[in-house]
Amino acid sequence: MKTVLITGASRGIGEAIARKFAANKYNVAINYVNSKAKAEKLADELSRYGVRAVAIRADVGDSVQAKLLVKQTLEIFGKIDVLVNNAGVALTKLLIDTKTQEVENLIITNLLGTIYTTKEVLPSMINNEGGNIINVSSMWGSVGGSMESVYSASKGGIIAFTKAISKEVGLSGINVNCVCPGVILTDMTSNLTIDDIKDLKEQTSLGRVGQPADVAGLVYFLASEEASYITGTVIGVDGGFI
Ligand code: NAP
Repeated sequence: MKTVLITGASRGIGEAIARKFAANKYNVAINYVNSKAKAEKLADELSRYGVRAVAIRADVGDSVQAKLLVKQTLEIFGKIDVLVNNAGVALTKLLIDTKTQEVENLIITNLLGTIYTTKEVLPSMINNEGGNIINVSSMWGSVGGSMESVYSASKGGIIAFTKAISKEVGLSGINVNCVCPGVILTDMTSNLTIDDIKDLKEQTSLGRVGQPADVAGLVYFLASEEASYITGTVIGVDGGFI
């Protein structure tokens, strides 16, 4: 049975990705940083698919904790076939109003978290002569969002990192790709008002905002055999917003 490690899988998009992989018979390592009860409840639920699911706490923005997360996952499951770097935080603020600590938190969690976890997973994937890494960026990482400049920078960094590292590890049989969700209804977008959502729907070609399962479907496809010749790509899942 294959194993997937998903960072930030306690809720939102990460939770939907965990459900998708478990339903398709993957063992699942569910990473979280604060939501212990949610992550453990999800692990219990996923076990009903006849797979092994374990909740593991780690702040991916801390290189030591990222290392321990990968070590623990390997100890429990023996291997990691797929890594989904999904953990992330957002901030909507003018740059001039953004505190240094807020800047650091965005870059450390979103960009460094992705880099640290990837760095720790690669030796075992190289040893296994294969693996799949899918990074969750954002449409703002490719086009830039006003009042989300630091968030956009962190997500743009993930796009550049995906392209570069895919070239470094391709000959080891490792595919690395990046997905760029548009507006997806989760806790991260819970500050949007009904009017905001109406405006966003109008700006979206498909006339609706996204659900976590919309992203999970794309991530699962990228990890599948059908996508084995795809690497170093950046794929939007934004209903045509961009
Ligand atoms: P969410 O509902 O706020 O969930 C965020 C997840 O990340 C939670 O599981 C959280 O864990 C985890 N997390 C946060 N900081 C962490 C850290 N330092 N270490 C480990 N885990 C951490 O967000 P979401 O909407 O599902 O977003 C998931 C990803 O999609 C993010 O990278 C986000 O930037 C990206 N994205 C979202 C949207 C959108 O519209 N929602 C659009 C584009 C891209 P706890 O529960 O333990 O706090």
